[in-house]
Amino acid sequence: MKATNSISLKTQEELRILREAGRILSVIIKELKCSLTAGVTTKEVDAAAERLMKEYGVTAAFKGYRGFPGCVCVSVNEEVVHGIPGSRLLKEGDIVSLDVGIVHNDYYADTAVTVGIGNISAELQRLLDVTYQALYKGIEQVREDNHLSDISHAIQEFVESHHFSIVRDFVGHGIGRRLHEDPEIPNYGPPHNGPLLKEGMVLAIEPMVNAGVWQTRILEDGWTVVTQDGKPSAHFEHTVAVTARGPEILTRI
Ligand code: MG
Repeated sequence: MKATNSISLKTQEELRILREAGRILSVIIKELKCSLTAGVTTKEVDAAAERLMKEYGVTAAFKGYRGFPGCVCVSVNEEVVHGIPGSRLLKEGDIVSLDVGIVHNDYYADTAVTVGIGNISAELQRLLDVTYQALYKGIEQVREDNHLSDISHAIQEFVESHHFSIVRDFVGHGIGRRLHEDPEIPNYGPPHNGPLLKEGMVLAIEPMVNAGVWQTRILEDGWTVVTQDGKPSAHFEHTVAVTARGPEILTRI
């Protein structure tokens, strides 16, 4: 592992392990999405995640991270990220963000999706679509010699052009031997700033998009982030490698 400034550049062997980690994680999240139905508690989703991780021989990246009690984060409606699995029941019309991180052979992969439970309103569907597309607008900027903030800017511009707001208080991150490595990747800001992207960097890009204002607050449990105005929020994330051929999405489903 070499480094440019403080951003690690992965070797081919490290990338091979990260690819495996990403592939396993994509299978796990695909199966977990099927468990998201009305009448299920978020704790049951967490238990399903724990079973799947055991089955695939990987460990939960979030469990115990700074004391986080769950295997995965499950955030419903106005919850933005870091929802602690518990007794909350999923019901028809909800949107649920599922953020899953794993460790495979000492390397981390991180991904998130937001799905609707049963039929959801057209406005919620638009929120999901715009957030998903915003992630891909960011990923399109993952090319050698682009600046880091080209990712940030593309996401913000796309989200705001659809009259939603982009969360500022939480950002994406480098990933590899640790869950959170340099650089921080804001989902907002002017283009052409920050470090140049180089082959071997691996980035977790994760726009969080609010239907109302961008401001958030943290609940008394010390973890759950909710929108300040109580309006819904969506979150999508992929772990992406910078390659000479452009972005390689390691967690592609
Ligand atoms: Mg992440």
